Amino acid sequence: MQWKEGVQVKLGGKLKLFAVLCGVDLCLAAGLVRTVSETRTVDGGGNAVRYEERYAALTFDDGPNKEYTAQLLDGLKERGIRATFFLMGQNIPGNEALVLRMKEEGHLIGNHSYRHVELTKEGQGVVLEELEKTEDMICQLTGQRPQYVRPPFGAWDESLHDLTRLTPVLWSVDSLDWKLRNRDRIVKRVLKDVEDGDIILMHDIFPSSVQAALEIADRLTEEGYRFVTVDELLID
Ligand code: ZN
Repeated sequence: MQWKEGVQVKLGGKLKLFAVLCGVDLCLAAGLVRTVSETRTVDGGGNAVRYEERYAALTFDDGPNKEYTAQLLDGLKERGIRATFFLMGQNIPGNEALVLRMKEEGHLIGNHSYRHVELTKEGQGVVLEELEKTEDMICQLTGQRPQYVRPPFGAWDESLHDLTRLTPVLWSVDSLDWKLRNRDRIVKRVLKDVEDGDIILMHDIFPSSVQAALEIADRLTEEGYRFVTVDELLID
């Protein structure tokens, strides 16, 4: 599997433009991210208390992985946290129980192609096969068709919008977990960049990523963050 490094551009709190370098092309995909605030009206004396909560979405690509996805699901369950998993079709056989767990435990499941191909460099037939094969496998297991796609390498363009009904979901914080492979360095990188409304990119195929994700979840929870699935952050 080959990797390309993504770059990220932030334009204020509400509108974020996610840019990804795809070879020599600069493919841009824009996502509107809602900044959510919540008012609560409880305190010990019955007085109105108002405060803002912050939201973030943990997203995991390239699984399911028999060992590490299972560990991650255990850790998320202990914490009552829901995340988003973008699955590769070729990793599903033998890991069907993990996909069912994702559904049963309230996580959102998305499509990450069958073989991790760069969709912008393939013909329409290959793109459709990659997406539909994965979609069919997920649907057969969970009874639900995925609504979202995380394009491998973040490579997406307008022609793909015409080809598929899937909504592309990129990211606003890149953990670089695949490169760092070190829990503390991944945690530090994410915590340095994360803001309200962010979508955090990670991969549930490395032990350091799972350890880091759970540490990030604990640290951000202490800071008042709540974790949601990407459909709860994105405005279509
Ligand atoms: Zn990937």
